[in-house]
Amino acid sequence: MISRIDLRGDALARLDARQLRTVLPRAEFDVDAALGTVRPICEQVREHGAEALRDLGERFDHVRPTQLRVPAEVLASALRDLPSDVRSALEESIRRARLVHEDQRRVDTVTQVVPGGVVIERHVPVERVGLYVPGGRAVYPSSVVMNVVPAQVAGVGSLAVASPPQADNTGAYAGYPHPTILAACELLGVDEVYTVGGAQAIAMFAYGAREDDGTVVCEPVNLVTGPGNIYVAAAKRLLQGVIGIDAEAGPTEIAILADDSADAQYVAADLISQAEHDPLAASVLVTDSPELADAVETALQERVSRTKHEIRVKEALSGAQSGIVLVDDVEAGVRVVDAYGAEHLEIQTRDAAEVAAGIRNAGAIFVGDYAPVSLGDYAAGSNHVLPTGGCACHSAGLSVQSFLRGIHVVDYTREALADVAATVVTLANSEDLPAHGQAVTARFGDALP
Ligand code: NAD
Repeated sequence: MISRIDLRGDALARLDARQLRTVLPRAEFDVDAALGTVRPICEQVREHGAEALRDLGERFDHVRPTQLRVPAEVLASALRDLPSDVRSALEESIRRARLVHEDQRRVDTVTQVVPGGVVIERHVPVERVGLYVPGGRAVYPSSVVMNVVPAQVAGVGSLAVASPPQADNTGAYAGYPHPTILAACELLGVDEVYTVGGAQAIAMFAYGAREDDGTVVCEPVNLVTGPGNIYVAAAKRLLQGVIGIDAEAGPTEIAILADDSADAQYVAADLISQAEHDPLAASVLVTDSPELADAVETALQERVSRTKHEIRVKEALSGAQSGIVLVDDVEAGVRVVDAYGAEHLEIQTRDAAEVAAGIRNAGAIFVGDYAPVSLGDYAAGSNHVLPTGGCACHSAGLSVQSFLRGIHVVDYTREALADVAATVVTLANSEDLPAHGQAVTARFGDALP
């Protein structure tokens, strides 16, 4: 069901990190190819606003929403209708996420460069954000928590959530996102929720949307965050510049670095847990133990046959993006997982914390036998919106920082400027930009002080 790649002996030594990346299993997730599909969708939203959003909802979600913004009474009733155990679980998830994200708050820094010369860095929240919550194959109330909590902790003043309408919804919820998503928004105090999914949601956030009579449905935002499928990722890439975006978070990935001390049942259960998201989800085991690899394969056969989303899981595990990679030792395994840069990396080895400390590239690291990725998906307190497709080599997951901008405030006295005037003039002249230097000397009678 799951393929093997043998990187023992010379096979690994011959490859540099870039070559190694090309031989490791990875999802075919060609965002550039999807740009051709999303460009006309985004154009349609820009030109025809609310009517385009209804047309696209009908086309892609098989629902033509009458009201694009979910009314306040529907949000309130979703929370009232939420089963009490789900409400308690969401509250616990929110409580833990707040604990972690409140510790990410940034304080302004004040650096006295010279006497009278100060540079302050102020951390200012983005004014208005659009938070995307996926809702195609599965629905993700947990992604409401992971988007909203850091934005609120950062102090963002205006938050809007968009999620696809669900064709199965009935009664008061017909035409709207999944009721648990609506309830999670209400629980977090988010009252601006749109029943719009996919690329059209990102375009709505970028351009805003109006009815034909000019009534505003959604004001444009400054920044869009949140995970989604290939069309969501492509729209974010296309509209970057019109809006800011977080890292691209596509189909989920789990890599597990394990040695012969690992429990094959835990490893198999964790590989399946992420394969459950999407047929394109990647589940990769890197191990120096052929015995563990065999035991995990046996455990996979047995567990997959009794998992609910068996077809999706089988597709993901047998896809080119999943596999078992054999290496000589844990050190070689670290090289492999570092080159891969997984969204989620589990370390199930002896001295797991020590091994984890040596990892450079991962969206999030889960240490030891009792930190499965699904803990982080819902209730570890960590954020689950994480970079995929190798983006963990240059980007981080969603955090309070994602919603802040550092602004330098430069405050120099006459004396402090006089002290550095010659330096500025010299550098300005060396760049053949003498007017830059003259802006300094103008303050001292057009001469160096
Ligand atoms: P989604 O909400 O991202 O996408 C559904 C939307 O896609 C629909 O509303 C529709 O408008 C659009 N769409 C569907 N087919 C289309 C087509 N042919 N052309 C244009 N648009 C089309 O939900 P999803 O599909 O379930 O995907 C969610 C993804 O998010 C999964 O891959 C999951 O693994 C990922 N995810 C990632 C993270 C992370 O942090 N990386 C977290 C949670 C979920």
